[in-house]
Amino acid sequence: MGIRYTSYIDHPKNKHTQFVTYGCCHCRTHLSSSAQVMSKDYRGTTGDAYLMNRVVNVEEGGRETRCMLTGCYVVCDIKCHMCKNLVGWKYVESERKDQRYKEGKFILELQTICKVR
Ligand SMILES: [Zn+2]
Repeated sequence: MGIRYTSYIDHPKNKHTQFVTYGCCHCRTHLSSSAQVMSKDYRGTTGDAYLMNRVVNVEEGGRETRCMLTGCYVVCDIKCHMCKNLVGWKYVESERKDQRYKEGKFILELQTICKVR
């Protein structure tokens, strides 16, 4: 499987006063930050979810097609690479053109993440 790296998200000083780092709620591995939030208006399988531009330290599961309110997508689940906690999914492909902006983006379920410093 190769060497597994854990990336750390730098906390920019001065600039973003509202900057929040999101981590896995079980092991606090850094996953993303408030700077990567594209939308907070999403629903995951467990409740509220964020659409994220970039997520780190996750393992991707197998691809599958899932139909949601906005159409069908090829997605894969994403898990924390340390503790295998399921944290959301990644949009791989959208069947609808107007939803293609989500391709390569991630959903993080709020119940599975926490704010870390
Ligand atoms: Zn974890």
